[in-house]
Amino acid sequence: MNRLKEIKELKRLSEEFQLENREIIGKYNMQELCSIYNGIGPDAFPEWLRNAISALHPSLAVVAFIHDIEWHESDQSREKFAASNDRFKRNGYAVAKAQFGWYNPRRWIVMNQARRFGNVCQLFGWSAWTSSCECAVCRKKKEGAK
Ligand SMILES: [Zn+2]
Repeated sequence: MNRLKEIKELKRLSEEFQLENREIIGKYNMQELCSIYNGIGPDAFPEWLRNAISALHPSLAVVAFIHDIEWHESDQSREKFAASNDRFKRNGYAVAKAQFGWYNPRRWIVMNQARRFGNVCQLFGWSAWTSSCECAVCRKKKEGAK
């Protein structure tokens, strides 16, 4: 799937699952969303966190999408940091429940992954949250400010 199609699909899924804070997606155009999603640079996002994201179950991509935009918008506050990580869990649970019946072991696998990933971000993500975002949108903004 190409990037634009992927982003469109993630937008659609965020609506379908009525995910928390999906409004944040509407603040950006497609090109910006492409830059932000997985475009948060190595300075801001350590390799292991990136790897943790790519190891997530595919159904959590839409949850990671919203989480990425929140991190792109980071105000470096403790409150929003905790809120973003908690939301990752809640949105992950919502996706798992919408996609898989209670009898389906995948529901529990996805919920577990969402909880663990939210916890990992909360425990080890602080320096990433507080360092400046290196995505193309932020780089352009910085260059414009010079
Ligand atoms: Zn950014």
